[in-house]
Amino acid sequence: MTMAEVLVLGGGLGGLSVASCLGQRALLLERASQPGGLVRSFEIDGWWFDHVIHLLHFRDDSTKARIRRLLGDVLQPCKPAAYVVCEAGTARFPIQDHLGHLDAATAAACVADLTRESAGPAAQRVANYQELLLRSFGESLCQLFFLPYNAKMWRRDLSTIEHAGMVWNLSRPDPAKVLEGLARPDDSKRAYNEDGWYPHPPAGASQRGMGVLSMALAATVDKLRLNHEVVALSPASRSATVRTPAGLATVGWSVCCVSTLPLSRLVHLCDGVPGDVRAAAGTLEHNRVLSVALRIKGPRPDAGLWRYYPSSEVCFTRLVFLHSFDPLMAPPEGWPLLAEVPWRLDELVPAGLAHCVEAQARAVGALMPEHEVLDATLIEADPAYVVFKHGTEQAVRTVSAWLRSVGIEPLGRYGRWEYSSMAQVMHDGFVLGATLANRLAEAA
Ligand SMILES: Cc1cc2nc3c(=O)[nH]c(=O)nc-3n(C[C@H](O)[C@H](O)[C@H](O)COP(=O)(O)OP(=O)(O)OC[C@H]3O[C@@H](n4cnc5c(N)ncnc54)[C@H](O)[C@@H]3O)c2cc1C
Repeated sequence: MTMAEVLVLGGGLGGLSVASCLGQRALLLERASQPGGLVRSFEIDGWWFDHVIHLLHFRDDSTKARIRRLLGDVLQPCKPAAYVVCEAGTARFPIQDHLGHLDAATAAACVADLTRESAGPAAQRVANYQELLLRSFGESLCQLFFLPYNAKMWRRDLSTIEHAGMVWNLSRPDPAKVLEGLARPDDSKRAYNEDGWYPHPPAGASQRGMGVLSMALAATVDKLRLNHEVVALSPASRSATVRTPAGLATVGWSVCCVSTLPLSRLVHLCDGVPGDVRAAAGTLEHNRVLSVALRIKGPRPDAGLWRYYPSSEVCFTRLVFLHSFDPLMAPPEGWPLLAEVPWRLDELVPAGLAHCVEAQARAVGALMPEHEVLDATLIEADPAYVVFKHGTEQAVRTVSAWLRSVGIEPLGRYGRWEYSSMAQVMHDGFVLGATLANRLAEAA
């Protein structure tokens, strides 16, 4: 049996961050052939795509300094110019701060409803996510954007979603800012979350896209085993059964196992799980995101980084214009387009999805007659969004407490069942890595 002091499960940003602090004392197992998890990029004949699009927003100075040191000048500021395309016009995102871009009657109705709601009780006292949206943004803006967009995003009755799990997603609009955005929607000071970053490697680099970050972090991990899938876990004997290219193997840990695997799936892999923990894990739901990557030949649009589409007539929630992140993501005669389609686990993936995306991208004017689609590739992110329902928070607490009691530390967006960003996941990984390194040093 191979032994490690710390066994890390999953080589996304969470697993890579914790393992990068532990040198030879950690062994990281990743089932894919490339590190990075959700944060991976790939190339087809000079066109580059991210599996799902990522813009890096730092939340603390130490993670920022660490990642800027790691990537150097390759990491460049990237201002997040995004738009909402709806029946009343195309408004800069966030829509509530740019109502002056909409037709005058709709904008006036949105401001009136929003002002009325802002005088009401605090949003936290509502019963579910649908009510949170209505109380935060008012009826008109909800009917125009928030309700149809979120219905496509979550593919569930929004009144069944727990609002407490969703406050990450929105804050109550400031009425003064809303009025400013009505009068001066083009004021550049009102951009959303200004401090975005994206890699810009030099021309001819072997890697582009946000995958550059994962590859750089992976290079700092001493023992990274790709194509190693954990298929069973025995907390009592502190060991994992792993499918490797050479067959099944057993790997043990002596101090700690850190898991970034989705909480629900991790419990399914473990033996000796108490009934209440198994039942709690069984209630956890998540969505996946199907991304359709289109290689396009023809003039590059000036459409911002991405555009949101609330209309139920189109299947995608967002179109992402990757050449706006980094112009070298495609040869000069073309550009890469990524369409995001959130999907439930219990829904079959429709066979004609790529054709449907192309036709609808033409219908909304993102693709013009002079644009030729060379091909389309379907990429699946599963899990993508954890779903917070009534009882989810308690279920996560029950499962996490049991895992910790048997020496497994959950980490990452799906390990902790939360809506964490890349920066938060890396921060949490570095903090846990430093704690474990200290513990190992004290024990030595
Ligand atoms: C659509 C979408 C858009 C996003 N946009 C942004 C953004 O713009 N900015 C931002 O900061 N964040 C964004 N995020 C969030 C960001 O992607 C995550 O916070 C981060 O990538 C999570 O890293 P992780 O290591 O926790 O999980 P993951 O990346 O999921 O890593 C888990 C790893 O475990 C591996 N694994 C699973 N099962 C096994 C097994 N049995 N054995 C071995 N390995 C296994 C997987 O292959 C994977 O590599 C976005 C997320 C989504 C879904």
